[in-house]
Amino acid sequence: MKRRDFLATGAAGLGSTALSGCVNITKTSESPALPFPGNTGDALIQPIDAPMRPIKSSMDRVTRTIVGLRPYRSPGPRLEAVKVGSKDVVHNYGHGGGGVSLSWGVAELAASMVKEFGQREIAVLGSGAIGLSTALQLQRSGMDVTIYAKDFPPYTTSNVAGAMWHPVTLFDRDQVTPETMAMLHLASKIAMSRFIRYANDPKYGVYWIRQFSLSDRPMNTSEPYIGGDEIYPGMRRNASNGPFGFKFYDAYYTLMVDSDIYMRALVNDFLSNGGNMVEQTFETESDLEALPQSAIVNCMGLGSGEVFGDETVTPIRGQLSFLLPQNDIDYGYAGGFGARGTLYSFPRRTGILLGGSGDRGDWDLSPRQSEVERMVEGHAWLASRLA
Ligand SMILES: Cc1cc2nc3c(=O)[nH]c(=O)nc-3n(C[C@H](O)[C@H](O)[C@H](O)COP(=O)(O)OP(=O)(O)OC[C@H]3O[C@@H](n4cnc5c(N)ncnc54)[C@H](O)[C@@H]3O)c2cc1C
Repeated sequence: MKRRDFLATGAAGLGSTALSGCVNITKTSESPALPFPGNTGDALIQPIDAPMRPIKSSMDRVTRTIVGLRPYRSPGPRLEAVKVGSKDVVHNYGHGGGGVSLSWGVAELAASMVKEFGQREIAVLGSGAIGLSTALQLQRSGMDVTIYAKDFPPYTTSNVAGAMWHPVTLFDRDQVTPETMAMLHLASKIAMSRFIRYANDPKYGVYWIRQFSLSDRPMNTSEPYIGGDEIYPGMRRNASNGPFGFKFYDAYYTLMVDSDIYMRALVNDFLSNGGNMVEQTFETESDLEALPQSAIVNCMGLGSGEVFGDETVTPIRGQLSFLLPQNDIDYGYAGGFGARGTLYSFPRRTGILLGGSGDRGDWDLSPRQSEVERMVEGHAWLASRLA
């Protein structure tokens, strides 16, 4: 077991607590409404049917390409209290393609399980979105929290996340239990209500967008979206005559999370609340015995599979490219487009995000040029359909 003190104490003055991060944005009579396009700096987003400007997708506008491994667990995320040796452990891992979205919900549920242990000193393993939000939630309950992790932001999968608020790619349909589904619905409701408090606060990099799912075939409406359709404002399902010339679409408003800005803010909140961070790699579950805390929350994402011998955990590789930013884009979209494959785009203010890869069981973290080209060409084709 490797161990090195990373940061010993809180960083005073780095920011307020996670929950005080709301800013009221008001429109005064002195701030005239700008004509579309170009007013997406306004807190008020466009109507769903408002005109959409095309994104400019070309190789010479690509600024960077990154790869991450979604911590996928075929039966769905694990949220469970267990005994590991002499330690009381809450497992909180395996959130697939929706970990940022679910984070505050599973954090709140995990924290309520930890309270049952009756301890004040808590170890959180992992410093991604799940570990940090769980640690912040525990601090809020008056506990002293130390985060132990191999890597810290910006070197986590959570920093690679899209991250559009919509918990997806969470389980294999034939392996998920009704109990896990109920937990996911509840966690999603809690998480959305918590994320809304960050909206339009530049410190957290969270803001509203309109989002479209596109198809030439009718959209599946047999089940509600995770958490219930009502938590997605403006929801339209299986509407016809969609944007980009598609016959069918779902549309809704949701939150865009600029993960680098957001993760940095969570670290600052945790440290300014007096939290400790220790760099440490766990090889096996017996390594937990050496920790001074007897109450532990495991938020090690993909690493949990190896440390705890959980063979249901597997990576789903995802590659993203970023284009130069365009401040006239306030929408995201996703779909499967025949030979062009799956494609999605989200309007980060720091750059237009292009995605659409999901390779199950693939551990390769190196970017693939063929994927960059597929995405740039595919999104350019979609943009041309707006004309
Ligand atoms: C391309 C891509 C796009 C995505 N898009 C979205 C999206 O739009 N919306 C969304 O909600 N989610 C999205 N996700 C999914 C999201 O990134 C994950 O679900 C989320 O980051 C999981 O968070 P986590 O904290 O569990 O894991 P991580 O961020 O991976 O954090 C795990 C932590 O555990 C530590 N750790 C691991 N193993 C060990 C060990 N052995 N010893 C010590 N420490 C260890 C790591 O160092 C790290 O600190 C996307 C992911 C990818 C790759």
